[in-house]
Amino acid sequence: MHRWQQLYDRAGASVLQPVRHALLDHHGLTLHIKRDDRLHAFISGNKWRKLKYVLRQALSERAAGLLSFGGAWSNHLHALAAAGQALGVPTAGIVRGEPEYAGNPTLSDARAWGMTLEFVDRQSYRRRHEADFLAGLAARHPGFYIIPEGGSCVLALPGVAELWRELPPCEELILPVASGGTLAGLLSARPGRTRVTGYAVLKGQGWLADTVHGLYAPAAHDPGWQLRLNHHGGGYAKCSPADRAAITELSEALAVPLEPVYSGKALLGLFRDIEAGHYAPGSRLIFLHTGGLQGARS
Ligand SMILES: *Cc1c(COP(=O)(O)O)cnc(C)c1O
Repeated sequence: MHRWQQLYDRAGASVLQPVRHALLDHHGLTLHIKRDDRLHAFISGNKWRKLKYVLRQALSERAAGLLSFGGAWSNHLHALAAAGQALGVPTAGIVRGEPEYAGNPTLSDARAWGMTLEFVDRQSYRRRHEADFLAGLAARHPGFYIIPEGGSCVLALPGVAELWRELPPCEELILPVASGGTLAGLLSARPGRTRVTGYAVLKGQGWLADTVHGLYAPAAHDPGWQLRLNHHGGGYAKCSPADRAAITELSEALAVPLEPVYSGKALLGLFRDIEAGHYAPGSRLIFLHTGGLQGARS
């Protein structure tokens, strides 16, 4: 537990960065960016927060190791591998895709930090929530603590909820959403005055809201949040050349590093919504930069 304490005592500075943009002035809005990408060099952004109490639980159970799931550029597996190394706990990653990916920067880092990788095809990967598939994994990795994809589980919520303590009053908190764990964690401690808006970075129509309710049931009756589902740009990790150029332009205009899968896509969606008058004049907006810049090495 000593190493866990050390890991979480030594967080870098996640500052609140004010940004300027003509569109903000035009619509009477202020925008700050909460720079969670600066929390830790390798355990990036929201993964640092989501893993906090999951790791503590695994350590308290004296787990033989940590096992989780992700794609070949997974920020979650990258963060988990780094955390395992910092804590002295073995890690295993179940990766969707071909073994050739093992040489990419994300998985090379993970292997260097001691993570063993197992590559599975899309069909097998789809079974990652099924009891018999998980039982097979548990048999091959005895005593390992199994963490869902993206680290999104109920124990991820309290670590994310702590973020509110670092924020000033605001009308709107805005963030990218994939598996919904970060959003659910924020809703679990949402101050009444603040609306939370999640920009889905994948095609989440029809299931994403239910996933959030599944992690945090009171969200189903909470009017203080919304999902923006039409800014996914064609799907997860898809980004047109025009959107890519727009993200680069935003990154330069705001002086904030962005990548096209999460922070860039969501911030682009936010600016398009601002242009369309979706945010009430006078609102103080905070955008949560969830990190993940390592993935931009692709
Ligand atoms: C994992 C990730 C997200 C998505 O978070 P969820 O809790 O899965 O919705 C957002 N941004 C970055 C940079 C991520 O790595």
